[in-house]
Amino acid sequence: MTSKIDGKRYRAFLVDLDGVLVRGSEPLPGAPEALRTLQERGQVVVFSNNSTRSRRAFAERLRAMGFPVRPEEIVNSAFVVAQYLRERSGPARVYAIGEEGLREELEAAGHTLTPPEEAEYVVVGLDRRFRYEQLAEALRALLRGAVFVAANADPVFPTAQGLIPGAGALVGALQGMGYPPQEIVGKPSPIAFRVALKATGVASPRECLMIGDRLDTDVEGARRAGMDSALVLTGVLRPEDLEGSEIKPTFVAESLAALARAIRS
Ligand SMILES: [Mg+2]
Repeated sequence: MTSKIDGKRYRAFLVDLDGVLVRGSEPLPGAPEALRTLQERGQVVVFSNNSTRSRRAFAERLRAMGFPVRPEEIVNSAFVVAQYLRERSGPARVYAIGEEGLREELEAAGHTLTPPEEAEYVVVGLDRRFRYEQLAEALRALLRGAVFVAANADPVFPTAQGLIPGAGALVGALQGMGYPPQEIVGKPSPIAFRVALKATGVASPRECLMIGDRLDTDVEGARRAGMDSALVLTGVLRPEDLEGSEIKPTFVAESLAALARAIRS
């Protein structure tokens, strides 16, 4: 399915995580070798909307699965939101709804996690222990004028057991109180792509290829950022979904392994 790709065209690769490198807690067949091929061709950054783990924790997990990736080579929406708040207002006071990864990245970027009464920002990522009390606390912060920023708004999230509700479900709960997010920084936002491009060290988006399994985040975000994209079919999308879609990737490949072979040849 994949035509030949001139690997020299790209000096960097942004590689999505779920549905491209891994499915649940298992590496996809051939994906570790394929990632190494890409690393020989250019700078690779793993680029995910998943905010449940920190870059450090993701790197450990990926290394255990055979992917040679350092924390600095990972950009997830927890890191993106932490960088975004820094650019916007320097070290900030944040009421966070999210898991350990979101908290760790916010603190690593110099922000302070506070009770709702002291918060300048309400930041929301996926929290699989979400309770009504957190919603009430978020409302207290928002009523006092805190700015609501979402790490991402993915509606659902793939696991080995199938789809589970994503961060978008929690964003929707706040929206249901009358507070839509002022910014959603994860893919497909240009904010996320800017942070990821910076992590590659490559200056121009035209030298960078985004590899993902979703049209609405990976491919659409790449288009908005001025990047080429490659869609792989090991994740949520089926070939027939492509036909009816307005969003078109630059390349389509069966898998990351097939893509790496096309780039190598
Ligand atoms: Mg994915």
